[in-house]
Amino acid sequence: MRNDRQPDRPPLTTGAGWHRRRRGLAPWLLIGLYVVIGLAPLAITWLRGHPRQGLAHDLSSGLVMVGFAMMLMQFLLSGRFRDITGRVGADITILFHQLIAWTILAFVLLHPFLYAVPGLWPDPAQAVATLRGMFGSDALRSGGIAWWLLILLVPMAMWRDRLPIRYEIWRLSHGLGAAVIALAGLHHTLTVGTYSADPWLAGFWVVLAGLAVASLVHVYVLKPLRQFRHPYRLVSNREVADRIWEIQVEAERRPAINFAAGQFIWLNLGHSPFRLVEHPFSLSSTPADRPRLAVTVRESGDFTNRIGEIPVGTRAYVDGPYGTFTLARRRASGLAFFAGGVGLGPIIGLLRELVQEQYRGPVHLLYGNRVETQILYRDELEAMGKTLDFRLQLILSEPPEGWRGPAGELTPEVIDACLDGRFPKDWLYFVCGPVPMMESVEATLLARGVPARRIVSERFKYS
Ligand SMILES: Cc1cc2nc3c(=O)[nH]c(=O)nc-3n(C[C@H](O)[C@H](O)[C@H](O)COP(=O)(O)OP(=O)(O)OC[C@H]3O[C@@H](n4cnc5c(N)ncnc54)[C@H](O)[C@@H]3O)c2cc1C
Repeated sequence: MRNDRQPDRPPLTTGAGWHRRRRGLAPWLLIGLYVVIGLAPLAITWLRGHPRQGLAHDLSSGLVMVGFAMMLMQFLLSGRFRDITGRVGADITILFHQLIAWTILAFVLLHPFLYAVPGLWPDPAQAVATLRGMFGSDALRSGGIAWWLLILLVPMAMWRDRLPIRYEIWRLSHGLGAAVIALAGLHHTLTVGTYSADPWLAGFWVVLAGLAVASLVHVYVLKPLRQFRHPYRLVSNREVADRIWEIQVEAERRPAINFAAGQFIWLNLGHSPFRLVEHPFSLSSTPADRPRLAVTVRESGDFTNRIGEIPVGTRAYVDGPYGTFTLARRRASGLAFFAGGVGLGPIIGLLRELVQEQYRGPVHLLYGNRVETQILYRDELEAMGKTLDFRLQLILSEPPEGWRGPAGELTPEVIDACLDGRFPKDWLYFVCGPVPMMESVEATLLARGVPARRIVSERFKYS
């Protein structure tokens, strides 16, 4: 943050939260690696001096090789590798994974059709015959399996919310389907691929496919195994606002995970770690509260609607921490938080840490809810002014009679009024809540001249 003004009040960036390192590769390094690996098969083919096969043929094999390399890298972009997500964020990583999937699909889809293109002239029937031959060929069966499965997998992932299947079933089918595509694609490439006889290219594919499969083994076997040996236990489960529960778990054996306030974990309550029944929740506790970890959960579906019934003593497993919604390695002369509903979860974690560290810069919290009974940790928030230079603004869209705070949403007018129209460029602005609220707050901040890099957001929904 080179352009940050040095804080004029001392010392605004002290304490564990600010100096905590963010684990992970730098974004420029990740992009560089991605481009190099994606283009490596073309470079190898060129360096090895393979003869040209004609435009359509070269285009077909070139696109499918790049597509297959990108497809194998998708395994590492699942959001579960902290070396990859640590600096860019799990949400950005998953968004990239989702968007790039369409490019991969396009490259792979075109592959057989481009082969058939030269047959289009003078007799188009020739092209149809080539395609028929390819799809009916036993030798090309593994390629066909990978091709059809990819066509199924990408739209299923994109529209998974509309599928009549549980998230866990979808996740399992996605992982298994991707593994079959990788292995069938590898078989196709090594047996009938245009350059299958080239040992350098074959070596490249084996290593990359091996990495992809190893990443699956890591996520589905090794990680659960580590969790199994490092269990947690539910030590408190209480309703802290209307249909919002605070869940506290405690590490049973080794120390609890090390995290920065504001990060999130994947929490498994009461199931074997091998069953993939886990949900992402932001930590509302601070590192100083360890060995206890707390998350604040709103009832919103199959699992969370029954979370209040889970008894104290239940075994729990934790994977994490993930996320960049933290103060780690950031600097600011003031902080503004914008929370909507249970979006206060990670924000209260950050505020608690600021209280513990006796942060001396100005802190604003604009916290919107529908009704008063949904306001989380109200007493604690109101007491924060004793330690912090704190301005709390509670906003209700359905206020009770006699409500003295602002009514409505976090509109530009409400934000302007709460911040006195001041949006210093060297502050940090943290935003978490329902997606429409986040989009509107982010747009207001940008319109008021806040640089995008000073806005830190956490979305509770990936797609
Ligand atoms: C980074 C992050 C942090 C979050 N932090 C919090 C928090 O602090 N408090 C809170 O209340 N909520 C949080 N959420 C949202 C929470 O994870 C979902 O509300 C919860 O998983 C829904 O589960 P359900 O089975 O009750 O709902 P369902 O109705 O079954 O699912 C609703 C939608 O949630 C998504 N979903 C369901 N299960 C999962 C899963 N295992 N993994 C990922 N997505 C899933 C799917 O898109 C699904 O369509 C967070 C989400 C993310 C991504």
